[in-house]
Amino acid sequence: MSDYSGRHRPPTRAERRAIERSSRLPKSFGPAYLIPTAAAATLVLTAAGATAAQSSSFTGASAATQARGALLSPSQDQDTASSLLSDPALGESAREEVAATAEEKSGLATRRQAASTSVAKDQGRTQERKRAARDKARAELAADKKAAAKKRQSASSTKDSTSTESTSSESSGTTTVGAQSWVKPLDNAVFTSPFGPRWGKLHAGQDYAAPVGTPLKALSSGTVVGAGPMSGYGIYIDIKYWDGTVVRYAHMSSFSASVGQQVAPGDVVALSGNTGRSTGPHLHMEIHPGGGAPINPAGWLAERGIG
Ligand SMILES: [Zn+2]
Repeated sequence: MSDYSGRHRPPTRAERRAIERSSRLPKSFGPAYLIPTAAAATLVLTAAGATAAQSSSFTGASAATQARGALLSPSQDQDTASSLLSDPALGESAREEVAATAEEKSGLATRRQAASTSVAKDQGRTQERKRAARDKARAELAADKKAAAKKRQSASSTKDSTSTESTSSESSGTTTVGAQSWVKPLDNAVFTSPFGPRWGKLHAGQDYAAPVGTPLKALSSGTVVGAGPMSGYGIYIDIKYWDGTVVRYAHMSSFSASVGQQVAPGDVVALSGNTGRSTGPHLHMEIHPGGGAPINPAGWLAERGIG
């Protein structure tokens, strides 16, 4: 191309040969027909009398080169092939082969088209299934969120029914833990006596040894429903929690939350002591589900992770 003058001239003999070659064969063997090339080469070789074994190693461009040679001469001599290309008889035969190959190519193209259409349909179906799964997961997530919001709302409306200052504890910012979480009644608790019969009577709670003045904390969100001195219990405080359970602390030295007050998990409501019928400083704690008869606190506390 470097000596191209910009004027038209008739092609030289070599150029004509090259044009003839490129117009006859390369369409079947060129890069635009990469995938079926091996198949086409096999076809051509079979027509030229080559064995299947010979064609089996053909791949890509080398297959095209070898097939071109084989098409014209089984000896695969390139010079012979080139000279034979100009032979009208062989040219005719080559044209027929090319035509046959083109037919085969078009058949292959049709099958490929059908296959790729089928693949596209499969992909479409798969994508549709994935989309449906995603939509379903999204819907379930939304439903979960809705249910959680409803639960929160009903929890707060329960509190509303017990007191008008229900939101004060939540908005006070003192609760980094959830409003329905449970915390232990005191730090460094030393369990000393379980629930059960004691000296012919029921010990209705369980005891923790604690020096006088140890801070006693609300187990969760709730309302103070009773507080004061009482025979046997000494100074006590009753708190009704959000789940309806009433928990009593007794033998205290003082309380700092008054009846009707809202408390949050961990709020200090009293200080431990040794008042009432007590043989030493300790916290006596009773669990009354629904405000009814006391139960063994061990299981109840364990269920809430504060046993
Ligand atoms: Zn006790």
